[in-house]
Amino acid sequence: MKKGRVFSGARPTGRQHIGNYLGAIQNYVKLQEDYECIYCAVDIHALTTLEDTHLLRENTREMVFDWLAAGLDPERSIIFVQSHVHEVTELHTLLSMVTPVNWLLRVATFKEKVKTQPHNVNYGLVGYPVLMTADISLYKADTVPVGEDQLPHLELAREIVRRFNYLFGETFPEPQAKLTNFPLVLGLDGVRKMSKSLDNHLELAATPEETTRRIMSAYTDPARQFKTDPGHPDICNIFRLHETYTPERTAEIAENCRGAAIGCVACKQMLAESINQALAPFRQRRAEIAARPGYVEEVLAGGADRARATARETMREVREKMGLP
Ligand code: SF4
Repeated sequence: MKKGRVFSGARPTGRQHIGNYLGAIQNYVKLQEDYECIYCAVDIHALTTLEDTHLLRENTREMVFDWLAAGLDPERSIIFVQSHVHEVTELHTLLSMVTPVNWLLRVATFKEKVKTQPHNVNYGLVGYPVLMTADISLYKADTVPVGEDQLPHLELAREIVRRFNYLFGETFPEPQAKLTNFPLVLGLDGVRKMSKSLDNHLELAATPEETTRRIMSAYTDPARQFKTDPGHPDICNIFRLHETYTPERTAEIAENCRGAAIGCVACKQMLAESINQALAPFRQRRAEIAARPGYVEEVLAGGADRARATARETMREVREKMGLP
């Protein structure tokens, strides 16, 4: 007996990095044990900020490819692309009729986007929380994994659902937040969040050699100009990664760093070995999937079929309740 139905969407960003894995994918994999899970590559959401879409298709495929290699199981979870189930755009339109504009204009991320992309304040950007509500409600998901920073978005989705249910009768479950600790994974520059666009990332699918090369070029504690300088592991990004990938040796590494008994080169080499070891099963699985041409497309088509069946049921009920002829 499953505990509930989870919905989670991610913008297609292409090949995933360890920040994506530690921040979301590993949690996706775990949730499959206790929940009915629906994982969606939200390509329509991506259009609210993307002006150049020529990589969208490829990025969607590569992201899902990595999800599958990391352990998302199409037998247990529905894995699909948002735009493949057209019903979501219909529900988005219908939910927009019950959503006061001032609810949307006060959303902090919208205000921020107005500042960061003033040349492209499109309608989709304002309606983003309504589309997100449609994503969740179309499949009647009751659980949404979110970090604390995303709670206001989910609260807005709950408000929209409550309003719809009040006006047209109980239809959608109010989605509950499953608060998840999404650790902030810093990039190899040691100061900014790991991100592909900042080129400070470690791709899951990179070769062991490439992973080692990138780790060896990472920034560490600036106080360590020479091997004899004592270090500060608490401010070093390499040490943070050791906490995840070499947990059994962190006390020893910290002590050796503070006492200058280990140099950064050796410390990074050790990290590269740990990360390559941890990623070996992922890379093996990726190679197996690559040997099955068309597999990712097959998974996505099957996922869309299953998602569509639920979506059609929901839309029949919604149209009926709203009195659409
Ligand atoms: Fe960081 Fe390791 Fe160098 Fe210490 S020895 S500063 S933990 S890379």
